[in-house]
Amino acid sequence: MARKQTFRIDLHVHSIYSGESLADPRDILEAALEKGLDGICITEHESMYASRPFEELRKDYPSLVILRGVELSTDAGHMLVYGIDDTEWNDWGKYKMCNGQELIDRVRKLGGIAIPAHPWQVMESSGSQEGLQFTVDERITALSNLAAIEVCNGKQLGHPVICEILGAFAKQNGIGGIGGSDAHTPENVGNAYTVFRAPVYSSRDLVRALLSKVYYPQTL
Ligand SMILES: [Zn+2]
Ligand SMILES: [Zn+2]
Repeated sequence: MARKQTFRIDLHVHSIYSGESLADPRDILEAALEKGLDGICITEHESMYASRPFEELRKDYPSLVILRGVELSTDAGHMLVYGIDDTEWNDWGKYKMCNGQELIDRVRKLGGIAIPAHPWQVMESSGSQEGLQFTVDERITALSNLAAIEVCNGKQLGHPVICEILGAFAKQNGIGGIGGSDAHTPENVGNAYTVFRAPVYSSRDLVRALLSKVYYPQTL
């Protein structure tokens, strides 16, 4: 069998355990397989624990890599956290808003990676829906030690220019750009994803791959 040249993972998915999604875990995993993804990362809001039931499902979906991360609220917007399996950090965002820079630095020290999710904003001067203009979220432009940003988010596909703006920002700053669907329903799983050049089988692989910057965001 020929070795796969690329490895496609949707790095931003919510399930019923996020509290605001009705997506059944098995429906999500079936959808991921149908869309031809190699892997999926569940990133429930504010809690790493919430996605624990997915651990049990791994054995039923051997051809799909199932990873778990978390999406935390910070003073610099939402951040996706990957590669931290211990639990000490889980409560950071539970009771108060995290400081974005602190989160990036602490997660990195623990061997993981924190990545701003959907870091764009509408420019003040915009008028009608058609005339909307977008820019990089100014809160993330002040951050240091950024390894990557979420360049393509499935919820922004109606405005492809956002991907372009964020992709240009990532390039200018020499950081990586990931893609994730931000799906809250099975239908939206895989609408955006990240293409890696090498297989990713574990959280550790994922962090290593994300730091390598040899990947790119893709939309369906
Ligand atoms: Zn978000
Ligand atoms: Zn999200």
